[in-house]
Amino acid sequence: MTQKINHNYKKLEENYLFTEIAKRTSDYMEAHPNEKIIKLGIGDVTRPLAHKAVDAMIESLQELKKGDSFRGYGPELGYGFAKQAVIDYLGQYGVELHADDITIGDGIGSDISNITDLFHKGVNKVLLPDPVYPLYKATSLMDGQEIIYLECNEANNFLPAPPDFASDMIYLCSPNNPTGAAFNFNQLQAWVDYANKHNAVILYDAAYERFISDQDKPHSIFQIPGARTCAIEFCSLSKTAGFTSVRAGYTIVPQELEREGMKLNRMWQQRQTTKYNGAPYHVQRGLEAALSPEGIKQADENIAYYKKNVKLITDVLDEKGIYYTGGHNSPYIWFKCPHGMNSWEFFDYMLDTIHVVGTPGVGFGHFGEGFFRLTSFNTYEATKEAMERMRTIL
Ligand code: PLP
Repeated sequence: MTQKINHNYKKLEENYLFTEIAKRTSDYMEAHPNEKIIKLGIGDVTRPLAHKAVDAMIESLQELKKGDSFRGYGPELGYGFAKQAVIDYLGQYGVELHADDITIGDGIGSDISNITDLFHKGVNKVLLPDPVYPLYKATSLMDGQEIIYLECNEANNFLPAPPDFASDMIYLCSPNNPTGAAFNFNQLQAWVDYANKHNAVILYDAAYERFISDQDKPHSIFQIPGARTCAIEFCSLSKTAGFTSVRAGYTIVPQELEREGMKLNRMWQQRQTTKYNGAPYHVQRGLEAALSPEGIKQADENIAYYKKNVKLITDVLDEKGIYYTGGHNSPYIWFKCPHGMNSWEFFDYMLDTIHVVGTPGVGFGHFGEGFFRLTSFNTYEATKEAMERMRTIL
């Protein structure tokens, strides 16, 4: 007898995107040591953490030094104070949550992957927007699910509408990485109605919700009537408050969400209490502080900084009449490669002529070909210089 392993892993493609970008960039730098390269491909925050969150984390670690305030294992699903911070934060958008709907975790990369434990492997039909954040595809492949790609393009402004056939699971990311496109209330309502009609479950990634500026765009899918019977939401503090290294996020599985007579909320709680021992106490205190009004004010100052960079980029695209999405509600700007180039041709063209590095759109999916992603995560000065250079080649 030999053990049976998961052969679905063979279906995973190596994601060469960032390795290839790094290789082409370092080869160029070696050959041209005097050129100043500007990187606008960064997908990680660069502004410092909200002070309020850092102070709360330091203070809570101090508590652990003393016998009377020491804490051991915490509740696996999250401390009450952290869940309350989420309830209050989303309450400002009219979302009504119960503490039992929420779990606190170490960022959402893991929760988005782990939630798939609730779904039978190998039998579900999964709708996946393309281009999109690669994690959803990878986990669906690992589970042997059938993937149906939803083409995102200029015609639908990179916001796919529900198809006219049924499916079981749908990944939506709004504002989207990489396109920066964000659903408005009506567009998201159409998805909620579709999911309720077909008994599908929407896995909603709201990692970039804090970047939303438009009033007609929801911050949470639970602002949409009917979402509590068909949606699960993941939201991270990574991009909101700069927690990419600290690691914190929350997942909302409403108690009304039932399939085949089972409550997904109960299943998720069973999963988490069995396989996870809870996010660190001090991190949850950091999350609580980051989501407080003062913490949010500090986080918003960073987001305002990134948005100034966004404006530098979109000003050039507007001036040159180049089609783009994103920016306004997102740290990402997604635009059509000029001069009829494909994504990698434009990457090389930018690197060779103006020494600016971005991310080829095709790296996020087949339908990303011919598009390019720039991010607002560099400094204002570097972004400004990059845009002065870019203006000359578009
Ligand atoms: N979802 C999206 C759309 C992302 O872009 C990222 C990170 O870049 C994540 C999730 C992962 O978030 P976390 O840092 O909470 O794991």
